[in-house]
Amino acid sequence: MTNPPRGGPVEPEPPLTSPSLDPVDWDAYRVEAHRLLDAVLDEIRDVAAGPAWRPLPDDIKAGFAAPLPQDGEPIAAVWAQCRDTVMPYGVGNRHPRFLGWVHGAGTVGGMLGELAAAGLNANLGGRDHAPVYLERQVVAWFRDLFGFPETAAGLLVTGTSTANLIGVTVARTAAAGPRVRQHGVAGLRLVGYASDQVHGCVAKAFDITGLGRDALRLIPTDRNFRIEIPALQAAIAADRRAGFQPFLVVGCAGTVNTGAIDPLPQLADLAAAEGLWFHVDGAFGGLVRLAPALAPLVAGIERADSLAFDFHKWLHVPYDAGGILVRDGALQVATFGGRAPYLAGADGGTAGGEPWFCDLGIDLSRGFRALKVWFTLKEHGARRLGAKIADNCRLAAYLAARVIAAPDLELAAPVPLNIVCLRYVAPDDARDGDALNAAIVVELQRRGLAVPSTTVLERRLAIRVNITNHRTQAADLDLLVRAIQAIGRELTGRAEGAPIGE
Ligand SMILES: *Cc1c(COP(=O)(O)O)cnc(C)c1O
Repeated sequence: MTNPPRGGPVEPEPPLTSPSLDPVDWDAYRVEAHRLLDAVLDEIRDVAAGPAWRPLPDDIKAGFAAPLPQDGEPIAAVWAQCRDTVMPYGVGNRHPRFLGWVHGAGTVGGMLGELAAAGLNANLGGRDHAPVYLERQVVAWFRDLFGFPETAAGLLVTGTSTANLIGVTVARTAAAGPRVRQHGVAGLRLVGYASDQVHGCVAKAFDITGLGRDALRLIPTDRNFRIEIPALQAAIAADRRAGFQPFLVVGCAGTVNTGAIDPLPQLADLAAAEGLWFHVDGAFGGLVRLAPALAPLVAGIERADSLAFDFHKWLHVPYDAGGILVRDGALQVATFGGRAPYLAGADGGTAGGEPWFCDLGIDLSRGFRALKVWFTLKEHGARRLGAKIADNCRLAAYLAARVIAAPDLELAAPVPLNIVCLRYVAPDDARDGDALNAAIVVELQRRGLAVPSTTVLERRLAIRVNITNHRTQAADLDLLVRAIQAIGRELTGRAEGAPIGE
């Protein structure tokens, strides 16, 4: 049926055959594509020679306010703008002296995996195609690495924030039954527990699931920033007395502040005794399972009911890629499964391939994240990736020793893994130490020398050096120490004017 013409002159219809969005001149396009790839490869090769961070100039910032383009331009022009206004102004996490927050450094092979995935343009929500089998293989590799049984399920997600949300959501189903999906959580008095060092995304998961942030009880930690088991037991007992229903305990395998690892076997025992779901946030720390000498640090992780972890941090898979594993795979399906008729599976044909990933998580349409993970693992192998993790921890110990030996630096926390929190101390200076250390960090970043971040430990600000970086060497940390000391002297008016450099 065609619509009857309305009043006014009738526009001629465009022809039903029109060019696709593919290149008109493939050969010319290929030349531009190779140029782009070469430029990106050169950049990564030469990354250490540039600054660790470069502030974005105001005129370039203003350029991002340009309106929606109505007409296209040649791909070479598009790339030229990206090359000039975006590529030089990344956050810096490819640089060997990017040591802030917990960022992976990326790999060239991972980038190629991403390129191939984009070329294939697969949708991993489900159905019967090779990418689904490849993602299942990646999930199985990590299921085995973490000592989960074959009945476990899992999938790749954007990152540990989403993985934790999935873990909390499955735990909710386990506690309240699948009917909670119909009735919601109103009227339930579910409460969960984690240490006061737990990542903020866990509280966000409580918020999103409707349990509310208050339902996540933050338990005090000991001098090593590990959860206090007696305090946890007391909190559970008090909640039960008050009529709440404890349902979940979250263990940290590597806290974001200091890399502290909760006593996972004790948490597993307690969860079993109390009938709680045991979820572990192993965003980066869980990956020490790949380093034989460090793996015992996270013993007990294999007892988790669910485990969240990232590929884009300590495995350096290009952003974004995280994973979730659930011991009882059926419960994960009971939490997220169920499809409308337009998504029905079939015994044969494209709509086969059960189980579908969309029944294990939030998204229906899903990208082929697994390919860049697969590329990374195939290219470097678990052994080498584990060795780089161990190297990072040895570098952290090296930095900690330098801090302890320096009269004007102090260690702000123990260093169990790869994170060193420290403070610059000016003994004869009345200045607020928090403001001084914050200013040192900004100066380090502004000058492109290094990018540590800050955190607050026991109400005092600390310079936080996180080493999840396969490019960082001891010399980078030597430079960092010298630069902190020099800028500290400068800001407290005791500068000797010595240039900071390599
Ligand atoms: C980074 C991190 C998260 C959040 O993970 P994303 O991948 O950034 O979503 C959660 N927990 C810990 C311990 C982390 O380090």
